[in-house]
Amino acid sequence: MIIAETITEVRQQVAAWRKEGLTIGLVPTMGALHEGHISLVRESVKECDRTVASVFVNPTQFAAGEDLDKYPRTFERDVELLEQNGCDMVFYPAVEEMYPAGFGAEIQITTDMVHQLCGASRPTHFKGVCTVVGKLFNIVTPDKGFFGEKDAQQLAILKKMVRDLNFPLEVVGCPTIREADGLAKSSRNSYLSPEERAAAVILYKTMQAAKEKLESGMTDAEEVKKFMTDMIQTEPLAKIDYIQVVDGIDLIPVKEVSPGDLVALAVYFGSTRLIDNFTV
Ligand code: AMP
Repeated sequence: MIIAETITEVRQQVAAWRKEGLTIGLVPTMGALHEGHISLVRESVKECDRTVASVFVNPTQFAAGEDLDKYPRTFERDVELLEQNGCDMVFYPAVEEMYPAGFGAEIQITTDMVHQLCGASRPTHFKGVCTVVGKLFNIVTPDKGFFGEKDAQQLAILKKMVRDLNFPLEVVGCPTIREADGLAKSSRNSYLSPEERAAAVILYKTMQAAKEKLESGMTDAEEVKKFMTDMIQTEPLAKIDYIQVVDGIDLIPVKEVSPGDLVALAVYFGSTRLIDNFTV
């Protein structure tokens, strides 16, 4: 597997692959890789001739006071996992490679979807995500980009960015990979104390119970949210940031829940904020 630290190296390798007529898949990550990331790599390997993963803890998507400095960095292990799973190249740029002195451009979605859900407490987050993913798309020029449904708002926003700005590629969403007890795998799970880790299973249990309610005919979004709030609040270590029901494309809150809608939540355990969701 090639480890490329510069944009020039990536472009040269991509040009060589293109000359051979090969298709390219891109899996953007912030590293600290786990089975969730690897499932995206496997899907890319399945669908594309060559797979590029990026490992870059993108400073522009963290606000002041968030966990940029303590975000886990495990590059050597990431390289092993990527190599074992058929990745052809990892792009591992320094911050200065992506944001050289004088950098001054950004990609911003201007509809309400960036203010909903995580956008309410992280107002600049998706601008950072769109900017870095837009740059990665321009650097790697993939045929397909692979993203996890775990970050459903990010996935919907990136689909919109690609549609509205005519990026010539397909955004592929991949299912959420979970721990045995249902907790969605996340690099941030490593922040949880053993007590918080045990408590966090309430998220999955609540989503399963909400799905049953929906299946048995509950359609009022407020009722669904109340049911989920009450259940999560039975766990003393959980502090709810939001529980919301939105449509699956534009992420606008709905009153009546229907198929395709997204039920999304963010909940703190101590200082760690976990997100999860399911599609109705
Ligand atoms: P991150 O490194 O957290 O920025 O995530 C990189 C990519 O992996 C994003 O597209 C995430 O949605 C995806 N991802 C993270 N966790 C999971 C998971 N548990 N299952 C599936 N995809 C995931």
